[in-house]
Amino acid sequence: MRKVIYPGTFDPVTYGHIDIVRRAIDLFDEVNVTIAVNPNKAVTLFTADERIFLLKESLKEFDNVYVDYFTGLTVDHAREVGAVGIIRGLRAVSDFEFEFQMALMNRKLAGDIATIFLMPHEKYTYLNSSLIRNLANLKSDVSDFVPPCVQEALAKKFK
Ligand code: ADP
Repeated sequence: MRKVIYPGTFDPVTYGHIDIVRRAIDLFDEVNVTIAVNPNKAVTLFTADERIFLLKESLKEFDNVYVDYFTGLTVDHAREVGAVGIIRGLRAVSDFEFEFQMALMNRKLAGDIATIFLMPHEKYTYLNSSLIRNLANLKSDVSDFVPPCVQEALAKKFK
């Protein structure tokens, strides 16, 4: 039974995140999609509970994928749930430097937990949650980028 965690902010979840989950579940037995709650971080558009709801709704077609949240160190959460690795998505070279630093730091903290990078379909490589928030705020159509439940939630936030 090989389990991995997929940590992120998911504010909100997009088709790019879902593409990564799909690739991860093809490789591993169980994927724990987990919201990194950082009490010191700038406020998010959606609360942790709203993000959990939207993730659960968006990922309900998948077996062996579950959603939760954690505070504290990612590697500690990975250990707590018995994961062998951490999934991260790589969109473009611009993601690389930050992800590389974090992966090496996590390896230093927990040498037994691997970081696995997955690349989404090309059509999602320019997609990130902050762009989606901006588009929704400007009342632009986001249906190509996020599932219907997220579209609805965005429409309510920005009505
Ligand atoms: P963002 O706000 O950039 O979407 P998150 O913290 O929610 O970031 O992302 C969690 C993980 O998912 C990160 O590894 C990030 O690189 C990855 N990710 C985010 N969007 C995409 C996408 N469109 N395609 C692939 N991976 C993605």
